[in-house]
Amino acid sequence: MRAVRPPATVAALEAENRIVKARLRALTSRVVRNQSILQKSQERELELLSAGSLGDLLKILFRDLKTSYQLDAVVLALCDPQHEIRHLLWGDPIIEEHRREVLFVDRLAMLAPMAEGLERPWLGRYREKLHAGLFPGVAGLGSVALIPMRHNAAIEGVLMFGSADKTRFGAQLATDFLAHLGLVSAVCLENGVNRARLMRSGFTDFLTGFYNRRYLQARLREELARAQRLGHSLALLMIDIDHFKQINDRFGHLAGDTVLHEVAGRIGAQMRTSDTGARFGGDEFAMLLQEGSVVDAERVALRVLQAVRARPIAVAADVAEVIGLSIGVAAAAPAPELRDHHMLGDRLIAAADAALYRAKSQGRNQVAVAEATVR
Ligand code: GH3
Ligand code: MG
Repeated sequence: MRAVRPPATVAALEAENRIVKARLRALTSRVVRNQSILQKSQERELELLSAGSLGDLLKILFRDLKTSYQLDAVVLALCDPQHEIRHLLWGDPIIEEHRREVLFVDRLAMLAPMAEGLERPWLGRYREKLHAGLFPGVAGLGSVALIPMRHNAAIEGVLMFGSADKTRFGAQLATDFLAHLGLVSAVCLENGVNRARLMRSGFTDFLTGFYNRRYLQARLREELARAQRLGHSLALLMIDIDHFKQINDRFGHLAGDTVLHEVAGRIGAQMRTSDTGARFGGDEFAMLLQEGSVVDAERVALRVLQAVRARPIAVAADVAEVIGLSIGVAAAAPAPELRDHHMLGDRLIAAADAALYRAKSQGRNQVAVAEATVR
C-alpha cells in the first residue's frame, strides 16, 4: 500500500514546530545556565561581604572563586603607590602563598596599558603581547576576563580571570555579573583596608569601632593635665551591660557581638564631639566627659541608659531583647600641685568602677554616683 504523504502545509508546519522546539530548548538551557551563574555569583559575593579580614578576602578571591567558576588563573592587580596595602598585609601567610597572584603596582599601566582606565569588564582571547604582564608565570591560557575594581578614590585595581578554554571569555558572555563582582570586591577590599588600618593603629576596638582601654587610659592622663591647667573637673562613666552573659548563653556569641555593637552605637549617639568613648573590655564601656561635673555626667548617664533601653535589640530572627545597663559615675578635679596624672587616672577609674558595682548590687538598670570627687 502506498504511504499517504501529508500535504505540504502540514509538513511545513511540522518543520517549523521542530525549529521552534529546538529554539525553546536552547533558550531554556541558556536561562538555566544564567540562573546558575547568577546564583553562584550571589553566593560568592555574600562570602566576600562577610570576610572578616583582608587575608580572608584574598582567600575567597583566590581559592573559592577559582574553584567555583572553574578558572585556571585568578590574579589581582592593585594600585598601591604608598605601599600601604602591602604593609597592612605584611606577615599574612596568604600573601606568601599567593605571591604571584597579587600584583602591587604604582600604576596599573605598568603591568599592561589596557589594564588602566578600564570602565567595564574586558573579555577576549589571551594574547601574549597584551596580557603576559597581567598573568606572570601562567602558561596555556586561552581566554581572559579583566574586571575593573574601583571604589571611590580609595581602591583601584583589576581582578583577572584566565581560562585555558579559548571560547570561555568572549563577546557572547554577559558581563553585568562580572562588573557587579568587581564592584563588590572593591567595596569589600576598601572595607578590609579600613578595618586593617584601625586595627594597626592599636587604639581601636575591632568589634565596636570604639577606642580601646589603652587609648582611654592614655587620653585620661592628657585630659587630667588639661583639666588641671584650666581648673576644670573631668567626669568618667563606667557602663556595663546587665546580664550580658545570658545573651551569649541563650542566643550565641554572634548575637552577643551584635548587642555589643548596637549598644556601642547607641552610647556613641549620646556623645558630644569633645567626649571620648571606649570599650573597656568584654561588655564594659567607658565615656570620658571633658569639663564634666558630676551633675552633668549623671544626666548623660541617664540619657545613655534611656537610649539603650528605649528599643529592644534584635538577637535572633524574631527575637528582640531589651538591654539594661548599670552605670557608675565619678569626677576628678586635679589639684594644682598634682604631678602624678597616671595615678589620679587610676583612682578616677576605680571610683567610677566602685559606683558601677553599687549600681549592680542595688538591682542593676540604674546609675550610681561616686560619693566624692577624686583629687
Ligand atoms: P552583670 O549584669 O553582672 O554585668 O552580668 P553579665 O552577665 O553581664 O556579666 P559578666 O561579666 O559575667 O559577663 C560578661 C560576658 O561577656 C562574659 C564573656 O564571655 C562575654 N564577652 C566578653 N567579650 C565578648 C565579646 O567580644 N563578644 C561576646 N559575644 N561576648 C563577650
Ligand atoms: Mg555585664
